[in-house]
Order: sequence, then structure tokens, then C-alpha cells
Amino acid sequence: MKLCFNQATTMKHSTLEQDLALCEKHGYDLIEIRLDKLEGYLTRHRVADLAAFFRNNRLKPYGFNALECVTFLSDAELGVHLDRVSAIGEIGQAIGCSCVVVVPSFDVVGATVDAIRDESVRVLHRLADVGEPYGLRMAYEFIGYPNCTVNTFGQAYDIVRAVARDSVGVVLDCFHFHAMNSCFEDLEGIDPEKLFAFHVDDSEALPPGALRDSNRVWPGEGAVDLDRIVGILKRKGYDGMASLELFNPSYWEMETETVIRTGKDKLVQVLRNGGFAV
Ligand code: ZN
Repeated sequence: MKLCFNQATTMKHSTLEQDLALCEKHGYDLIEIRLDKLEGYLTRHRVADLAAFFRNNRLKPYGFNALECVTFLSDAELGVHLDRVSAIGEIGQAIGCSCVVVVPSFDVVGATVDAIRDESVRVLHRLADVGEPYGLRMAYEFIGYPNCTVNTFGQAYDIVRAVARDSVGVVLDCFHFHAMNSCFEDLEGIDPEKLFAFHVDDSEALPPGALRDSNRVWPGEGAVDLDRIVGILKRKGYDGMASLELFNPSYWEMETETVIRTGKDKLVQVLRNGGFAV
């Protein structure tokens, strides 16, 4: 299992330059780059500088986060996302990064499960049509909020299966899995090849439907049954990446290096508890 750092964890005060240096120092294998942090970086550096960093260091880029609210849009609005896929694809080719996280829309009044499935499948095909020539893969991430159109693992996995395209897979985020009571039975049915990103985090013990990203806590210190989730992935033969992704505002106020070092220790412990050799 490869250890990955998601920049949401240090979102408020850190920069891509700082996260890169500290993740390299503390032995992460991979980083998920936030698009807003990348935008900031590119006001100070060139894409070639980023490519050179990854060439000269052990740390490698895994993916970009995120294209958000991609479904139930007008053609013009979807076109903006398609243009972003081209731009991301070009940068991805230059730096060796081949995955982008894609998030469904929220607050679509009256949309049925079937309508959401059809629309998600349609949009993922459109995005994949643009991304594939760049070697870019789309990782669809369900969000465990009641008002997200795709808010359980089973619903997201059903959509990705319906797309039936090698370049389209699912994100499993432990916090989101817990937050809307996703089914462990659905997770037992996963084809590990379809799991493009595994976000590791934990949660304060609020009732289903009440949790928000700010309720995330260090892996192993909350209410999520991480042993069961990680254990299932181990049994299913998943051997991809595990990415620390916290959005806790109190962690944002801590020293960045402390967060990156502490987070890695917590991540490693959770993976070991689930049977992975890390
Ligand atoms: Zn996530």
C-alpha cells in the first residue's frame, strides 16, 4: 500500500511547495494536489519546475482534487469542466499525474436515484472522452451529506459500474462512507481495480446526516469502523494508495510539519491494524 497525502489536510495555511517538501521529508510515497493550491503554485513557478521536483524526489503525484458539482449543469457549465479536464490533462502529462477526483452536484430538488444515475453516467462519459487522450482517469467521489445527489458507496459504485469504462472508477472516503451509513455488504462486492482512490480519515460521533467535513479527526481517533473498512480492502486484494484527507480547522492552525508527521503515523497505524504491511 502506498502512503499518500491529500492537501485538504493542511488546506488553510500551507502551499504546494511546503507540502511537497514536508511529504518528501516524512516519507510519503504520493500526494493528491488540490487544484487551488496548484493554481497558486503556478503564479510563482512553471509546470516544468513541478515536473522537475517529481523527477528528482521520491514523492510522486497521484491525483488532482477536485472537479466539483459536475452533474445537472447546462451545456455551457459542463463545458467549463471539460475545458478544465484538458488543462489538467496537459499538466498531468507533464508531471506524471493521471487521476482526477470528480464530485457530483448537491441540492438537485426532486432528482430520483435513476435520474441521478443516468446523469452521472452521461457526464462521466463526457469527461472521460476528453480525459482519456491525456491518459487521465476519473475517480467519482460520493459525499456523505444528505443533500448530495450521490451520497453512499453503493450508489457511486453502481454508477461507475454502469459507465463500464477502464478510465472511470470510484473514490472510497471512510468519513463519507460512515456519514450516510453506507453498506459494508456493498463494499464487500468491490472490484479493487475500480477503486481509484482510498481516502483515510475518521469522524466525530454525530448522527447520520449531521456530519460535515470539519468533523473529521485523525484516523483511529473517531467513530468510523476503520478496522472493518481496511480489513475488507485487504481481503479483496486492494493494493493501491491510502490517502490522509482531513478538513479539520483546528489541524489547519497547527504547524504544518506536525500535521504531516502526525498524520502519517496515524495513517500507518490504521493500515497495519487492517492487516497491511506498511
Ligand atoms: Zn475524500
